[in-house]
Amino acid sequence: MSKKRYAIVLDTKKCLNCKACTVACKFENGVPVGDETYRIWVTALPLQGEYPNLHQEYQPSQCQHCENTPCASVCPTHATYKTEEGVVLVDYDKCILCKACMTACPYDARFVSEHHKAVEKCTMCYHRLGEGREPACVETCPTKVRVFGDLNDPNSKVSKLLASRGFYQLKPDRNTRPRLFYLK
Ligand code: SF4
Ligand code: SF4
Ligand code: SF4
Repeated sequence: MSKKRYAIVLDTKKCLNCKACTVACKFENGVPVGDETYRIWVTALPLQGEYPNLHQEYQPSQCQHCENTPCASVCPTHATYKTEEGVVLVDYDKCILCKACMTACPYDARFVSEHHKAVEKCTMCYHRLGEGREPACVETCPTKVRVFGDLNDPNSKVSKLLASRGFYQLKPDRNTRPRLFYLK
C-alpha cells in the first residue's frame, strides 16, 4: 500500500470568522488562551465589490506543511523534521531556540512556546491522526471550511475536491509546495 500524503483543502468562501478553529486548536494543543500566540489564525481579506454591494471574505491560515521545507533546511539541530506522510513537526527536546526557522518561514507560522521552551507551530494534530481522528480545527469548524485527507487516495475528499475545483496556494513564488490548498 502506498504511503499517505496528508493535506488540508480550504474553502474560504465558507469562513464566518467565528474563530472556533483558533480556540479549538488552543485547547487541543495546550497553546495558552489569552496569549497572543496561535497555531492558526484568520485574516480578513480586502473588501470586494462596490458600495453598497460589498463582500468580505476571510482566510484562515496555519503552517502550510511545505514539501520544500525552508524551516527544516536551516534548523541546525534537525529539531524540525517531516513525517513519512509529509507532516512537518518539531522535536522540542532538540530545539535550541535559535529562531532560524522563524526567520526562514515565509508564512510566519512559528512562535516561541514558553510552555515547551521551544519553537512550535501547527502539527496537523498529528497525535490525533493515528487514532483516525481529524485535526481539531477541521472537526470544530461549524461551516466545514477545511477538509483533511490523503492525496495518495484518489477517492479521498481532498483528492476529489482538487480534481473538481480550481485552487491556489499561498506565496507560490517561494517554491515551498504547501500541503494546504485554497479553493477558488
Ligand atoms: S471555525 Fe471555520 S468559520 Fe469559524 S473562523 Fe475558523 S475557519 Fe472560519
Ligand atoms: S509554513 Fe513555515 S513552518 Fe510550516 S513547513 Fe512551511 S516553512 Fe516550515
Ligand atoms: S491542525 Fe491541529 S495544530 Fe494545526 S491548526 Fe488545526 S487544530 Fe491547530
